[in-house]
Amino acid sequence: MIRMIVLLLIPLTLLFGAQVEQKIWPAGLTFPAYLKEQNASGLLQTISAQDMEYVTEIQAGEIYYELCDHGQLLQTLIPLGKEMQIEIVNRGERGYRFDIVPIRFHQIKKEVSFAVKKGYAAQIKHLTGSTYLGFILEQLFQKRVNFRTLQPQDRFALIYTQKGRLGKPSGHPKIISALLKTHGKEYFVYIDTKGDVHFDTHKAVTFTRIEKRPFTYTTVRKAPSARFRMPVDHPRITSHFSYRRWHPILHKYRPHFGVDFGARRGTPLRAVNDGRVIYAGWMRGYGKVVRINHGGGFVSLYAHQSKILVKTGQHVKRGQVIGRAGSTGRSTGPHLHFGLYFKGRPIDPLRYIAHKGTGKFRTIVEKHTIMKKYSITHQKRIEIPEAKHARNRLKSLIKQLTTETWKWPRYKRNLIYINEITEKKTARTEDRRG
Ligand SMILES: [Zn+2]
Repeated sequence: MIRMIVLLLIPLTLLFGAQVEQKIWPAGLTFPAYLKEQNASGLLQTISAQDMEYVTEIQAGEIYYELCDHGQLLQTLIPLGKEMQIEIVNRGERGYRFDIVPIRFHQIKKEVSFAVKKGYAAQIKHLTGSTYLGFILEQLFQKRVNFRTLQPQDRFALIYTQKGRLGKPSGHPKIISALLKTHGKEYFVYIDTKGDVHFDTHKAVTFTRIEKRPFTYTTVRKAPSARFRMPVDHPRITSHFSYRRWHPILHKYRPHFGVDFGARRGTPLRAVNDGRVIYAGWMRGYGKVVRINHGGGFVSLYAHQSKILVKTGQHVKRGQVIGRAGSTGRSTGPHLHFGLYFKGRPIDPLRYIAHKGTGKFRTIVEKHTIMKKYSITHQKRIEIPEAKHARNRLKSLIKQLTTETWKWPRYKRNLIYINEITEKKTARTEDRRG
């Protein structure tokens, strides 16, 4: 036990003589003149031309720090702007060292809670030493709480941070979270590291996802009937195209691969389009028949004719009379059986024929359904874990009120040398203090 005390005392006594002094850089003082005052002129030769430019940036009126021991300079810290500083260190026999290093701050996290009396702003100032905190609090809550209606017994709890340097606060405190209990209601605020303000422990996030959904659209097109006209001048349909119809003669179901037009014997039959006659003659069941190839895979057929007026191989024009209606072959009476074939297969002629020869074409409306990719925006609420922790902390804090006026922790002056000489040591020293 005794040995331990002795070990601890030795370094302390060595440093006890050293004093940190806060000074103001006087107008007209140059850096070389300052070094001369400190008997450290030798240092000048070690400073690069580049760094000498920074040295001329030292502003008159700047607050700087000196650590001296019995009149001998151990260390000087002179700020260059808000972030950097000149550091001069006495390394004993190895002489002075010059460097430009970051100004190091430490941060203190503070918790305060209080019940409202007259003038909450004065209370905050009393408890935290800051007028700024009261101002910011009112701003944070202003959309939800009218601070003029605050009553005694309303309570605040507050978590905030304060940067400090060499035993003094530096800059404004920053609120992390606060809880206000007024008129029996609790109001919460949390500020994340990005500075975004949340009034709840959850936040809404939106995200987009690619999803496939059926998409239906309609197309309108003209039937390819533009190709063909009616085979008779005054068409009267007596039987439609069908894959299964009752056959009046056979008394059986049979397909009907064409359209029957009522027509008196001798009615002129017209080519539905330009083409070449590929057959003109007798066909079993169909009687006297003409078949015309119109190209593009289309062939038309005119059956049960009483008279054929064209020959195989003959070219015909659209509307040209190619024969006359009759009742040859298997037929119940005079009519035209008109067939249309595409690539050898029978098709419903009416889907390809201009209506009644008026030139008005049938329009086909078709519905199509495809799977389409959509980017869909979803929203969900997610918890902010830090906010949840803060809220829990504030809830317990608000029950036990802060009684003591908070003071900035007393700075151990003799630590300045150790504090800022190397980064590693500094970090450890600051942890201990914060
Ligand atoms: Zn028929």
